[in-house]
Amino acid sequence: MAGKLVIIVTGANKGIGFEVVRKLAKEANNSFLAKELGTQGATIYLTARDEARGQAAYNKLANLSNDSTDIQYATLDVSSPDSVRKFKDLISSKHEQVHALINNAGVSPAVAGDGGSWDSKTIEWVLSVNYYGVREMTNAFLPMMHDQGRIVNLSSGLAKLSALRDRRLKERFQKASKVSQVDELMQEFKDGVRDGTYGSKGWPRLSYTVSKVGLVGLTRAFAAEQSITHPKLLVNYVEPGWVTTDMGGGWASDGDAKDGAVSPSFAAVGDLKGKSGIGISKDSKETSW
Ligand code: NDP
Repeated sequence: MAGKLVIIVTGANKGIGFEVVRKLAKEANNSFLAKELGTQGATIYLTARDEARGQAAYNKLANLSNDSTDIQYATLDVSSPDSVRKFKDLISSKHEQVHALINNAGVSPAVAGDGGSWDSKTIEWVLSVNYYGVREMTNAFLPMMHDQGRIVNLSSGLAKLSALRDRRLKERFQKASKVSQVDELMQEFKDGVRDGTYGSKGWPRLSYTVSKVGLVGLTRAFAAEQSITHPKLLVNYVEPGWVTTDMGGGWASDGDAKDGAVSPSFAAVGDLKGKSGIGISKDSKETSW
């Protein structure tokens, strides 16, 4: 017997992440991935940066634990390398492998757009969660990922290449096949903000959008790098739709957090036909960048 699926969801105390945990607690054990790997049962880590909020969320879902599926709580701030390291130590002390890592945690400086919060501190914060946090988590867990595991990154429909206004900048993102190349681009964005040249270099004045464009680039680069050494490890991003959560706000047109949980859950345990480095829409279909 191949043991249980081990699944990690970041930023899962509310919103889409919380609903992903709920959905996978019900479905992971009978999923495509479980059948493919011959696993029996699932252990799902509901993680949160704030222990009180995380425990409260865990308490709401604890009744879904049964003989085959158990939900565990752990504290994890993805923007803190120390927190990521401690969490990784905890997981590696309990499990040999991780089957799905869902990088859901995310922040937005303002629901109404970030024109009012265009300062270097806010931009650093947004990037530290949405871009560098995902990079840290992925680097920490890649050595533990099952060869046929999944990494799922929560992007956004706002993060299309068309958000960039410079043809060469778009091309560089599109062609980046190494994480270091995407890192370089994100550094150029930060430098451009610092010296005021970002606009003339084609970057939009939207830190959330840039962080998620970077995340798509990062996903594709990780997928390209892993395709050489771990061709069956699938690294993808999802556009979950615009859904009502604290981040999505009350006017979202694509439903609620449960609807937002559909595509990340599919990317984590559904039949992806072996595809890696792709975008997956709210309807769980392949989408272009
Ligand atoms: P919410 O604001 O409801 O939830 C975000 C979650 O991320 C919270 O649990 C929050 O924790 C957590 N978080 C924030 N910073 C950190 C951190 N440093 N470490 C760990 N966790 C952190 O947002 P959504 O559920 O709407 O969004 C989930 C993901 O989906 C995000 O990546 C978002 O960008 C993406 N997305 C959402 C869309 C939508 O319409 N809602 C559309 C497109 C993409 P805390 O409660 O402590 O703040």
